[in-house]
Amino acid sequence: MKNLRPIHIVGNWKMNQTMHEISEFFIEMTKMKMELKCKAWIAPQALHIAILKEMAFTTGSIQVGAQNCAEVDSGALTGETSPLALADMGVEFVIIGHSERRTIYGEKNELLNQKVLNALKNDLKVIYCVGETLAEREANDTFKVIEEQLNVGLHNLPADKAHLVLIAYEPVWAIGTGKVASAEQAEEVHAFIRGKLEHLKDETVILYGGSVKPDNIDSLLRKDNIDGALVGGASLKAKDFRQLCSIAS
Ligand code: PGA
Repeated sequence: MKNLRPIHIVGNWKMNQTMHEISEFFIEMTKMKMELKCKAWIAPQALHIAILKEMAFTTGSIQVGAQNCAEVDSGALTGETSPLALADMGVEFVIIGHSERRTIYGEKNELLNQKVLNALKNDLKVIYCVGETLAEREANDTFKVIEEQLNVGLHNLPADKAHLVLIAYEPVWAIGTGKVASAEQAEEVHAFIRGKLEHLKDETVILYGGSVKPDNIDSLLRKDNIDGALVGGASLKAKDFRQLCSIAS
């Protein structure tokens, strides 16, 4: 079943990178000529999406997405990013429900559901993020929390758009901390998530995220239900990103 699902390496650049660093990144990427078999995606900050699309076009193999979008297409929402505008610009995907959006900006499952449905209405691919905090894991609430995030966040998901949805399991305690979940811990949750999917159980790509690096990705990708990674810190440098992609290819 796993070979039904293409391996994805998705860089989440968060609020990082200057124009100079982005140019360096693509210069390095083009130098390292290699056929990529995995899907290589990058989500820069919104301001850089257009320029990244241009640069990615020249390298040919990278798709560009957004880290967040609004729950409606347009209106008086100062500072927000419209999913309609993203789709209009040819953006391929959007990350929704990253734990930093949930914890720092207080985005709840109900709002995330509106964002997911609206992004799908615009035919954007959606990476919907779920994951438990350390306190929730220690209280044995991991599965309960994730089930709720899936049930509410993906409520009313139209069957004909299910092929556009990817899930990212990112334990909050592993993000940016250097503490990667063990491949066994991650696989246990990935299998649980797959079991809970209403549509396209076997086809849906489920990514792992949280301190993924070139030296730990291999054991994660060996697991049946881990179809790639959502990578923060280790996606910022071309050398690491390329290495992740070549291990995954
Ligand atoms: P990290 O971030 O790889 O730096 O832990 C992952 C993420 O937040 O998506």
